[in-house]
Amino acid sequence: PYGRVWNFSAGPSVLPVSVLEEVQRDLLNYKGTGMSVMEMSHRSKTYDDIIEGAEATLRRVLKVPDNYAVIFLQGGGTGGFAASYLNLFACKAVRDKQRKLGRQLSCDYLVTGSWSKGGLKEAQRLGGRPNVVLDGVRATKTGAVSYHSLPPVSEWKLGKPEETAFVYYCENETIHGVETPSSLVVDAVDPSVPVICDMSSNMLSRPVDIKRFGAIIAGAQKNMGPAGVSLVIVRKDLLERDEAGVEAVRSIPSVLDWLYYASAGSMPHTPPTFAIYVCSLVFKWAEEQGLEALERLRQARSGLVYDMIDAHPEFYRGPVDRYYRSRMNVVFNLPTKELEAQFIAEAAKRSMIQLKGHRSVGGVRISLYNAMPLEGAQVFVEFMKEFYEANR
Ligand code: PMP
Repeated sequence: PYGRVWNFSAGPSVLPVSVLEEVQRDLLNYKGTGMSVMEMSHRSKTYDDIIEGAEATLRRVLKVPDNYAVIFLQGGGTGGFAASYLNLFACKAVRDKQRKLGRQLSCDYLVTGSWSKGGLKEAQRLGGRPNVVLDGVRATKTGAVSYHSLPPVSEWKLGKPEETAFVYYCENETIHGVETPSSLVVDAVDPSVPVICDMSSNMLSRPVDIKRFGAIIAGAQKNMGPAGVSLVIVRKDLLERDEAGVEAVRSIPSVLDWLYYASAGSMPHTPPTFAIYVCSLVFKWAEEQGLEALERLRQARSGLVYDMIDAHPEFYRGPVDRYYRSRMNVVFNLPTKELEAQFIAEAAKRSMIQLKGHRSVGGVRISLYNAMPLEGAQVFVEFMKEFYEANR
C-alpha cells in the first residue's frame, strides 16, 4: 500500500505501517489538542502523558526491573560512547574501587566491529586506557581484514575484576553483520563488573535479561523509531556519586550526564518530543507483537537469506561465522564487484532498496529490522534465486 518500497536500509529504517498511519491520523490535531505533537510544549499535561507512557510501555515490553532508570536523550548512539565512559568513571562504586586499588581503573572493550571500535576510540580520546579484550579483525584470503567472528572465550583478555571499571561491547555490529549473544559476554564477566552494551541495532528484537547489564545504550533509528532520540537503561546504583564523583562530574557536559536526565524524567531540558512520541507508538506495537514473536520473526526472516547463502556459497559469500551471524543485518559478497553492482541495481528495479554494504566494507547488506514483514525476506530471496540462475 501507499507505493511503499521494500526498504532494507540499515537505519534510519522501516517503521511499522500501522504506526505511521496513526502518526498521520493524529498529525494535525493530536487527540483534540488542536495541534500536532511537534508543536506542543513539553511542559504540558498531554506531553507528560506521552513521555511517561513511552517509558511505562518500554518497561513492560523489556521487563525492566525497578532498580533501573530509563532515559530518553539526544546525541545518537555515538553520544552513548562518551557518556558510558564518563558516567561510569564518575559513579561511586567505581571510584570506591579505584581508591582501594590506589590507581586508575582500566575498562574492558570487546572489539567485534566498527561500532564497538568507535566506543573504544571514544574512551581513548577521553584519556582512558581501555583494555582491548579481543579484536575480531582477522586476515581474509584476499589479504583484507574484517570482522567475521570472535575468538573463543578462553582467549579473551578480560582485566582483573578489581582493576576494571566496566566491560563494554556492541551486541549487533550493524556494518559487519556480527551479532554476539548476550549470554556469552555476561557469563564470561565477573558479576561485580558492570557490563555496558550498545544495542542500537538489535534492541526490541528479542527478550533481554536486563538485570545482567550495568547499562544499555541504543540509538532509536533502527528498531525503535525515528532518528533524534536515544535510549539509556542504567542500573540506578551506577548513578550514585560521592563528593569526589561529583567533582569528576564537573567534566561531564550536562547533555551526557545520565543523572541529569534520570532525576528529571528525561526532561531537564527540551527532549526530542516528536521522536519520543513515535517511539511510544512503536513500543506499543512491539508490546502487541510480543518480544518472543519478534524473536521468532527475526530468526525466520534472516534464516531465509542465510539458507540461500548456504545453498550457493560460491556465489553468495557470507563472511560471518555461523554462530555470530546477525539476525538484523545480513552481509554477503558476490564473486565480483560488477556482479554486486548489477545485483543491487536489479533489486532496485523491483523496489528493493538500500542493499549496498556500508561504504567502509562494500558488498551487499540487507537489514531486516522488526518492522520488516516475513514477506520482505521472501521477496528478496526469490530475487536471489533468480539472480543466481541468470548469472552463475
Ligand atoms: N552503534 C551502532 C550499533 C550503530 O549501528 C550505530 C549507527 N548505525 C551507532 C552506534 C551510531 O549511532 P548514531 O549514528 O546515532 O550516532
